[in-house]
Amino acid sequence: MNKLGVHALVWSGDLTPESTRKVISQTKAAGFDLVELSLHGPKVMDLALTRDLLQEHGLQLGCSRGLTFDADVSSDDPASVARGLSLLEEGISITAELGGNYFGGILYGAMGKYSAPLTAQGRRNAVDALKRVADFAHKRNVTLGLEVVNRYESNLLNTASQALAMLDDVGAPNVVVHLDTYHMNIEESDFMQPVLACGKRLGYVHIGESNRGYLGSGTIDFAQFFHALAMIDYQGVITFESFSSSVVNEQLSNALAIWRNLWDDGMDLATHARAFIAGGVNAAAKARAHH
Ligand code: MN
Repeated sequence: MNKLGVHALVWSGDLTPESTRKVISQTKAAGFDLVELSLHGPKVMDLALTRDLLQEHGLQLGCSRGLTFDADVSSDDPASVARGLSLLEEGISITAELGGNYFGGILYGAMGKYSAPLTAQGRRNAVDALKRVADFAHKRNVTLGLEVVNRYESNLLNTASQALAMLDDVGAPNVVVHLDTYHMNIEESDFMQPVLACGKRLGYVHIGESNRGYLGSGTIDFAQFFHALAMIDYQGVITFESFSSSVVNEQLSNALAIWRNLWDDGMDLATHARAFIAGGVNAAAKARAHH
């Protein structure tokens, strides 16, 4: 069985010590193996406390973030690229300090709607930056996940095949593809082919519904996606992501356009999601075994 994770925004919009205690204890209580912490927003996290709480609860950790338009490694502007590089190095360092070994998200550019296509120079800058930070991450035993997101959140990686081409160009063993069903629903032709194309280069998965709310309340064909994961014998983490205007991280929630209230009770949402994902993964594994 894959390790199952939950994004901290299901529980809390910030990571003050109080909120961190809540995030970690609720993650454990809902039956998850891993918590994903977003490194967006004000720097209030107490790293030593967070690391201790994770150990105490026996939870694994993933960290994630997207870059910003003034700190964008896919920019033509070297100063913006340099600021992006330092955000990435900071994220990798925080991940390692917390005892984690996965840092993913929109590590290759800004998280937001671009008003122009990527330039050739911008893509070269992103590739060079990722080569540098992959080495920095490797020395700290951290894997980098390039999350494929929809066109309103990036102009660089909108499909799995673009991410695979990027991995080829970066050429580092600790850089993997990170797929998210919410984004695949917008950009891919189906939920199977992109997973099969990634194969062993798929290193992390986000499960999100088309409306980013309760799993099963939207239009995503999760059965097809879970079958695809079984077909590649995916052994990695599967993390549930959902956002509502009832739990807000100003920077992240605004960048993701979370304007509506899709749920109030994070525990009900998360326990439902955990059962939904575990059920889907198990059903696909059984179908595969009897194929
Ligand atoms: Mn995601």
